[in-house]
Amino acid sequence: MRLPRFEYSAPTTIDEAVAELSEYKDEAMIIAGGTDVIPSMKQRRFTPKRLVDIRQIRGLEYIQSNKDIRIGSLTTLGFIEESGIINQRLPMLAKAAGEVGAPQHRNAGTIGGNLCLNTRCWYFNQSPFFRQCRPVCYKLGKDDDKCQLFPTRKGKANVCYSVYSGDTAPALIALGADVCIVGPGGERVIALMDLYTGDGKRPIALGFGDILKEVIIPFPSPLSAGIYLKHRLREAIDFPLVGVAVNIALDPKDGSCKQLKVVIGAVASKPVIVAGVDEIVQGKKFTDQLVDKVSSAAFDKARPLPNLLGCSQKYRKNMVKILTKRALPLALQKLTDNYTK
Ligand SMILES: Cc1cc2nc3c(=O)[nH]c(=O)nc-3n(C[C@H](O)[C@H](O)[C@H](O)COP(=O)(O)OP(=O)(O)OC[C@H]3O[C@@H](n4cnc5c(N)ncnc54)[C@H](O)[C@@H]3O)c2cc1C
Ligand code: SF4
Repeated sequence: MRLPRFEYSAPTTIDEAVAELSEYKDEAMIIAGGTDVIPSMKQRRFTPKRLVDIRQIRGLEYIQSNKDIRIGSLTTLGFIEESGIINQRLPMLAKAAGEVGAPQHRNAGTIGGNLCLNTRCWYFNQSPFFRQCRPVCYKLGKDDDKCQLFPTRKGKANVCYSVYSGDTAPALIALGADVCIVGPGGERVIALMDLYTGDGKRPIALGFGDILKEVIIPFPSPLSAGIYLKHRLREAIDFPLVGVAVNIALDPKDGSCKQLKVVIGAVASKPVIVAGVDEIVQGKKFTDQLVDKVSSAAFDKARPLPNLLGCSQKYRKNMVKILTKRALPLALQKLTDNYTK
C-alpha cells in the first residue's frame, strides 16, 4: 500500500521543531520511529500535510541516572529493554518495553512514540477498502460524524470508544513517572497519567507545537518491586488485549505493605489506575486472601471496551483479575530475591 503525498522536514533543534509544529497546527504530525505513523498513513488513518521528523534533533536519546532516572523521548524501546540501569533499577520497565511488537518495532520505535500512541479500534484500524463499507466515523471525521460501532445515546454528544494499547504507559504510571513537554509556552512537567485525556478521538493531551521531551521516573524505594504482565493472542507482535502493571513497596521495619499501585492497560481509552488498593493493603502483610481482595478490586474497576478483536469483553475483564493475581506474588518473589541477594 502506498503512502499518500506529504511534505517532509527534519529540524535539528527542538525549538525549530516546536516553531514548525506551531505554524502548521493540525496539518503537521510528528514522526519519531515511524512504526505507527507510517502504517497509519498507508491506511489513510492520518493524512498529514507535513511530517516533522524529530529524529535529527540531537540530545533526545539518553538514559540518565542522577537524582532520578530520565529517559529521552527518542530512546528506542530496544535500548531500554537492554539497558543495564533500567534492568537493575526498573526491571518492570525493561520488561514492558520488551513486550512491544517484534524486535524490528523495538529497534525503531521510541519511548516518546509509545507513550503518544494513538488509540485503536477494530473499525478504525482497518484498510480504507474495508472502511468503505460504512460512512466515515467520528474519530476519522468531523465532530458531528457518528461512531460506526456504538450508537450515540439520545441527546448526548458523540463518543469514540477506541482503546489505548501502549505497553510502557501502565508500567511507567505504576512507577510514578512524570513527563517533560516542550511547547510554544516553554517547558512543563506533568504526571504521565495526565498525558491521557480518556477521549478516544483526541487521546493525548498535547497541543499544537508540543513535543514530549523526556520521561522522569523517581528512584524506587529500596524495598519495592514491580511487574508488568501482558495478555495477547500471540506471544510476539500483538498489541495487548489486557496489560496489568503492579508496583509494591514494603515497610522495611516489619515487611508490611507501605504502598501498592495497580494500573490496567488496553481496557479503556486511557490507562486505568485501580483506586483504593492502597487502603486494602496498607500496614498488612500479603496473604492469599489479600491478593484475592486486590485482584477483585482490579476486576471491579476494569470495564473493558468491547472494541478489540480476539476475545470478549467478559474474558478480558476476567483476565484483569487473573493477571493481577499472578502479578502480585511474582512482584513479592522479586522482593524476596532482591532482599536475600
Ligand atoms: C505490527 C505492529 C505491532 C505493534 N505492537 C505493539 C505492541 O505490542 N505494543 C505497543 O505498545 N505498541 C505496538 N505497536 C505500535 C508501535 O510500534 C509502538 O508503540 C512504538 O513504540 C511507537 O513508537 P514510534 O517511535 O515508532 O512512534 P511513531 O510511529 O513515530 O509515532 C507514534 C505517535 O506518537 C507521536 N509522537 C512520537 N514521538 C513523539 C514525541 N516525542 N512527542 C510527541 N508526540 C510524539 C506521533 O506523532 C504519533 O502520533 C505495534 C505496531 C505495529 C505496526
Ligand atoms: S470507536 Fe472511535 S474509532 Fe471506532 S468507529 Fe467509533 S468513533 Fe470510530
